[in-house]
Amino acid sequence: METANIVIIGTGVVGLAVAAKLSERNEGVYVFEKNAKFGQETSSHNSGVIHSGIHYPEGSLKAKLCVKSNPMLYEICEKYKIPYKKLGKLTVAIGEEEIEELEKLMKQGEANGVEGLKFLGKEEVKRLEPNVEVEKALYSPSTGILEPDELMNHFYARAHENNVVFAMETEVTGIRKTGNGFEVSGISVGEKFTVTAKTVINCAGLHSDRIAAMAGIDVDKFGYRLHYAKGDYFRVGGKPPVRMLVYPVPKGAGLGIHLTPDLAGMVRLGPNAYYVDKVDYEVESNEQEFREDVRRFLPVIDKYQIQVDSAGVRPKLQGPKDGFRDFVIRHEADKGLFGFINLVGIESPGLTAAPAIGEFVSEIYESEIKG
Ligand SMILES: Cc1cc2nc3c(=O)[nH]c(=O)nc-3n(C[C@H](O)[C@H](O)[C@H](O)COP(=O)(O)OP(=O)(O)OC[C@H]3O[C@@H](n4cnc5c(N)ncnc54)[C@H](O)[C@@H]3O)c2cc1C
Repeated sequence: METANIVIIGTGVVGLAVAAKLSERNEGVYVFEKNAKFGQETSSHNSGVIHSGIHYPEGSLKAKLCVKSNPMLYEICEKYKIPYKKLGKLTVAIGEEEIEELEKLMKQGEANGVEGLKFLGKEEVKRLEPNVEVEKALYSPSTGILEPDELMNHFYARAHENNVVFAMETEVTGIRKTGNGFEVSGISVGEKFTVTAKTVINCAGLHSDRIAAMAGIDVDKFGYRLHYAKGDYFRVGGKPPVRMLVYPVPKGAGLGIHLTPDLAGMVRLGPNAYYVDKVDYEVESNEQEFREDVRRFLPVIDKYQIQVDSAGVRPKLQGPKDGFRDFVIRHEADKGLFGFINLVGIESPGLTAAPAIGEFVSEIYESEIKG
């Protein structure tokens, strides 16, 4: 039976960031991935936005890790020549109620330590984005975009340089606690396997509740059961109607249908948010619904053709009737699982937060487990 020091389950952006960071100071890091290539699930079905951190309650892991990561990502992009654009973002408000919401967002953003936020009036917005018609907007200069695959390539390359063993087409189906660690078993390229490891780190994205359950955790009792919230995108044809990211004031399970330019300048609308029972990437929404939402602040959308683009699925701890839920990133020693680190509910801003999540997990490992 093979022996690993640390087993990481999952090669999304989070598993890769954790592997890259932990392998700087530790040998024997193995990463198991059920698909043939890394990053085929949520990490390659998202908006590619480097968030500033205005959307999450003060003190939450989402807020802290996003705000910490934002400048880290720009540094990584500069240093390793990963294409990015720091475009800035407008969150727009129409009417008294939305302006109040915008003021709350501004306060929250400032409390979270987001720098450079400012309110813009109608005319200032017009100067920046001539097609956007709103009364007020919150400008966040640190929001940007990058290509998620390029970021994942970067973490993969760093981990590879540090001798991390990647086992692809390797699905974990069992985790058993032993005296001083774990037995991790499953199917690797059609063959059964078992590996022993002192530490297991669950970065399994949409399946992270299942991995937690395999380790013996009662996911309902501890509130780890995931809900899937799908988000569809449409693509705007022709000359881009906006240059920056433009978001409405958020409502419901997502951030509201927004406009995100990609690195080539083409603009996507979405994602919306609706709960589903299974994971697939078929766009199910209606174009009209998207047009109506966007028309409120971008009337010119009616002159544009829009086409179906793609979809993504959020691993949400927050069910349809629940309030805010934070990332779960914790060492589960108090559940009788010394050496097991759970990462559950890593929805947005998980892409942005990935480098800071890597550091956070590494700190937990070094201070609580390595000894
Ligand atoms: C529509 C949408 C838009 C988003 N937009 C943004 C954005 O603009 N900015 C931002 O910061 N965040 C965004 N996010 C969030 C971000 O994409 C996620 O937080 C992030 O990609 C999660 O990465 P992950 O590594 O945790 O999960 P994943 O990318 O899902 O990776 C998990 C991996 O684990 C593997 N795995 C699962 N089970 C097993 C098993 N049993 N054995 C072996 N391997 C297994 C999977 O195959 C997968 O490769 C968005 C998400 C969605 C859905």
